[in-house]
Amino acid sequence: MSSPNAGSQGPSRLPSASEDGAAPRLLEVEDAPPGTFGEFEPTAPPLTDAQGRIRLSFSRIDTYRTCPRKFRFRYVDRLPTQPSPHLSFGTSIHGALEAFHDRKLPDPPSEDELLGFLYDAWDTRGFADLPREEQVAHYRHAQQVLRRYHARQRPPGRTTAATEAWFEVPFAYEAVVVGSIDRVDVDADGDLHVIDYKTNRRARPRSEVAASLQLALYALACRHLYGALPRTVALDFVVPGLEVIVGLEELDLEAARATVLETAAAIRAERFETVPNRLCDWCDHRAVCPAWEGEADDTFGAAVTTAEQLRRRLRREVRELRELEAGIARLATERGLDT
Ligand code: SF4
Repeated sequence: MSSPNAGSQGPSRLPSASEDGAAPRLLEVEDAPPGTFGEFEPTAPPLTDAQGRIRLSFSRIDTYRTCPRKFRFRYVDRLPTQPSPHLSFGTSIHGALEAFHDRKLPDPPSEDELLGFLYDAWDTRGFADLPREEQVAHYRHAQQVLRRYHARQRPPGRTTAATEAWFEVPFAYEAVVVGSIDRVDVDADGDLHVIDYKTNRRARPRSEVAASLQLALYALACRHLYGALPRTVALDFVVPGLEVIVGLEELDLEAARATVLETAAAIRAERFETVPNRLCDWCDHRAVCPAWEGEADDTFGAAVTTAEQLRRRLRREVRELRELEAGIARLATERGLDT
């Protein structure tokens, strides 16, 4: 699979917006470490950093707030999770848009080039168990979404300042919040605009976007990276093709800060209550969750389910290894090397 970060070639840098000192501080933006990608977190870095701070991301906080037990299964016990069509679809769209916006003006990439980026970024993992025609249907859908994205007008006078801007924001000595902002634009006045892509089928109402913890954290990250809060933040719902933009003044940055500190304190205190919720049916750990013990999954059943998950993962990895070995053999033949 192509890494979603494959489009990043070295550090990004914000262009200077003005010469009068009012422009945001220009700082290097580090690329995200391999395997870490915005809200999706295919690999799980350690729970604390070298300074003992709880290492959080928006998705970790969101998981904890949904169900602390799920957080424990995933990030403390490190139980395996399954790739899914939805996550792979999102990863692929993000990868294509990153490459698209990485191209410097004056010539934005054509629609064909954008579709080429999709081809390069297509993440097959979540589709591996689907019949071929379903895989093709997902791919065609992604093409359609990106065609629509390409046809949309962007606000005039804006340029892309950074894509996948990796941040690590400390919150006192308690926590560090890490992640990457999908895109940061700068306008003609030197003001910053944060954009996060979403691949939900429907756009969320404006009130929910304004209350988004993720966007509040990204605004704080923006200040940490560039020395200036953004003027606007937005969720771009790329499937329906609707960008919902809110002004900085609508965000509650203090509440976001309090949420980070509360979550870190609860994790440090090992408070991992089980909170059944409407997403349990999609939870990777339902088979071993005490909330569903009486249902069908006794210890034996849970072990069988987990073994099946591991078998599926093993099969996928063997398939990927074979493809890699075939590629190496092909290259070796072309170059007249022994393998
Ligand atoms: S199945 Fe539901 S209650 Fe159990 S860990 Fe998952 S989200 Fe929490």
